[in-house]
Parts: sequence; structure tokens; C-alpha cells
Amino acid sequence: MAITDDVLVIGGGLAGVTAALSAAEYDRQVRLISYKQSTLRHASGLIDVLGYTPEGEGPLEDPFAVLEDLPEGHPYERVGTDAVREALLFFDAVADDAYAGNHTDANALVPTSSGAVKPTARYPVGVAPGLASVPRDTLLVGFERLPEFNAPLAAAHLGATGVPFDVRGVTLDFPGIRRDDAKVIRYAHILDYDERVDIGHGETAARPALATTVSAHLEGESRIGFPPVLGDDNHDVVRRDLEERLGVDVFEVPSGPPSLPGLRLEDLLYEALEEAGVRVTTGVEVVDYESSNGHIDHVIVDRTGQRVPYQAEEYVLATGGLVGKGIDSERERVFEPLFDCYVEHAGDRYEWFDGDAFGHHPFARYGLTVDAELRPQKANGAIEFENLRAAGSVLGGYDFAAEKSGSGVSIATGFVAGARAGEVVK
Ligand SMILES: Cc1cc2nc3c(=O)[nH]c(=O)nc-3n(C[C@H](O)[C@H](O)[C@H](O)COP(=O)(O)OP(=O)(O)OC[C@H]3O[C@@H](n4cnc5c(N)ncnc54)[C@H](O)[C@@H]3O)c2cc1C
Repeated sequence: MAITDDVLVIGGGLAGVTAALSAAEYDRQVRLISYKQSTLRHASGLIDVLGYTPEGEGPLEDPFAVLEDLPEGHPYERVGTDAVREALLFFDAVADDAYAGNHTDANALVPTSSGAVKPTARYPVGVAPGLASVPRDTLLVGFERLPEFNAPLAAAHLGATGVPFDVRGVTLDFPGIRRDDAKVIRYAHILDYDERVDIGHGETAARPALATTVSAHLEGESRIGFPPVLGDDNHDVVRRDLEERLGVDVFEVPSGPPSLPGLRLEDLLYEALEEAGVRVTTGVEVVDYESSNGHIDHVIVDRTGQRVPYQAEEYVLATGGLVGKGIDSERERVFEPLFDCYVEHAGDRYEWFDGDAFGHHPFARYGLTVDAELRPQKANGAIEFENLRAAGSVLGGYDFAAEKSGSGVSIATGFVAGARAGEVVK
């Protein structure tokens, strides 16, 4: 006997979670099955909608001003501008007060750990005081044993981009961290629970110790940017506590991987799934399926060697792109490994890449071709399965890294795929 639901979402990254939440809005019994960790844990936690056009123009001030001009087959062209807007509103409702940026269509400019400035549509509230468009002198603080964020270098790069403020960087000792290989989660934990730390002449609580160390380096700046280690479970409390102690605004500079802002977003989304009554099955892989008359009847899940059938009326494929293994490649072909949906790509593998390492590589756009309902299509345009939709980076037609559109596409297509699946269940 198969385990039965109305809608089955395969893949638990941003696209899959959004699809599951969106389908659940239609009062359907929804299940989400996911295998390994998604890219949420590695990504910055920023929700980029469109920072650059596919031709590389940008940074874009208003992504909505160019959405209508995207080429046929781009995921945003498939779902339409109104759906992108609706999907962002849906995300805003789920993220609630944890994210900022919903007051405007315009992209915000967020400083990154490399000292670049990134156009993004939504950002964690802990990032908000650091926006590069706001002319306030800034101190960046890095830590000796956390080489991922080189604050003096980031400050120099940021200054060179022409930001309208002075920015300096210092590298300090993080109280309580003595090991070079301490994980970012250890830094966060020390601050979350204000642990007692040894400061060389006795013990004190971590937050006041950090504030004392940092305040000695302030030279009139009105905001301080830290790497994203300012607490996990109690992130808001930690940030506010440091602000009070330092008397200036405190923000995180997004970086990764590994990325605490990404982990915080993942926690928030999985809590929302629980609240919405979505059944979540993790750590298992969907490995096979049975179909008849162009309909998927059920999929097969590998449960430690046992093949277990899961059945639903509607399915959403959100298994990720080349990173998540939702799209895979061999020497001669690029393919979608679960349903073997068609992936358009050049026959000659030497045409998959651009000669210039920093050029536009065609393989970055390889993925499923879909109709306006997000149903994967065969090479001749026919639909692969009537009850299968696809969302997120398994889709082709866009280059998320070059366009800075990764999370936006996952949210927009996840929202639409979930809604259509929820709507058509009988
Ligand atoms: C390092 C990095 C940094 C990034 N930074 C940003 C950023 O700053 N801003 C931004 O907007 N975007 C960023 N992105 C892009 C963004 O994270 C992705 O575009 C987007 O989140 C992809 O989501 P997804 O749900 O489509 O896929 P994924 O996150 O890849 O999730 C797919 C999930 O499906 C599961 N899965 C796959 N096959 C199966 C199967 N057969 N059975 C069950 N489960 C399966 C996988 O285990 C995985 O959990 C970044 C991506 C990376 C890799």
C-alpha cells in the first residue's frame, strides 16, 4: 500500500518549501520529501530577485522594471511579473518580521564579505542597518580565527566601490574562541547564551567582553558590521544587546558557506511547514516512479534499501540544479536523473563552457524547459507528465549566479507550482 497525499513535493530547498506552503494554502494534504541538505545552508540568506539582466547590465535599481523584457523561457517570463510580485508577498508573510525590504520594489545594496555591493530584494533585519546606500560611517570587525571575513580587506574593497561613507576594518580576538578550527555555530552559541569566557585576567560574560573589545576601536562610526555569527537561536537578542552596549547600530555582513543567515532562514521555513500541517520526510531519496497514460501514479522512496511507494494526485519536482543534483551530467549528456525529463543542451560538450573562465557559460542555464503551468516539456514541446510541475534551480533558461536571481526564482516558481498543484487536486 502506498503512502498517500494530495500533493507531493520532491526537494526541501527554498523552491520545494515554498511550493509545499503554497499548495497547503488550498487546504490540501501536502508532503515534502527531501534527501540531503539544500543550498539554503550555504547561501547568504539574501533573497535576490534580479540584480543584473541576462546580458549582464546592472546592478539593477528596480528588477520589476525589466522582468517583462526577459527572454522567452526564463522562469520569470514563464510565471509572469504579477506572480513574482505575489510570490514575494507570500514570502513576506512567511518571513514576517525576520526580513526587511518589502516596503519597495527597488533593490537594496548590501555589502558582502568580499567588500562588494550586492543588489537584493529582501534581506534579514540584522543586515538592514548596514545598507551601502545609507551614508553613515562604518566600522567592519573581523576575528583572528575566522579568516572567511577579512574586515580590513573588505573595507578597502567597499571603499573602492565608491560607497557614500568612510569605512574601516579591524581584526580582533573573539572572546572565548581559542581554536583556529572553531565553527561559526560555536561563535553564535557563545553569544546566544552569553557564556562565561576567559579574558586573560578572569572570566566575564561573552557579550560585554566583545563590546568592550570592539568599543576601543570605534572612531566615531555610527554602525558596526560583523561576520554573520551574532547568535543563532537568540540572534535578535544578541544584536540588540550589542547595540545597547556599543551605542551604535550593529549589523551582519552576509557571507558563506557555511551560512548562519541561511540556516536561520531554513529554520523559519521548516517551522512554517509544521504550522501549515505539511508532512515532512527528510533523509530519504526519491529514486524511481511508475506512470500510466502520461500521469505519474506513484514515486518510489529508498528507505535504507527498502523501496516504499508514495502516491499523490499532483507532484512538484524541486530537486535543485547542478549543485543539488536535480540536474546531473555525464561526459556526453546533461540530464534530469529522476523522471528523465528533457534537458536542452548542446550536443558537443565543448560548447557547454565559454572559453573565458569568467564568461557566460551555457551550462549554467541548463535545466528543464517548462510551459506556463511549469510542467516540464519534451524536446517537441509536449508535456512530460500532466501532474508534474517543476520549480527552482532544476529549471533552465537562467543563470542564477550571473543574474543574482537564485532565491527569487525559487520563490516565484515554487509559489506558482505549489498553487497550481493545490488548485487542480480533485
Ligand atoms: C553557495 C551558494 C550561494 C548562494 N547564494 C545566494 C544568494 O546570496 N542569494 C540568492 O538569491 N541565491 C543564492 N544562491 C542560489 C540559491 O540558493 C538557489 O538558487 C536556490 O535556493 C535553489 O533552491 P532549490 O530549492 O531549487 O534547490 P536546492 O536548494 O538545491 O534544494 C534541492 C533539494 O532537493 C533534494 N533532492 C534532490 N534530489 C532528490 C531526490 N531524488 N529525492 C529527494 N530529495 C532530493 C536535495 O537534497 C536538496 O535538499 C546560492 C547558491 C549557492 C550554491
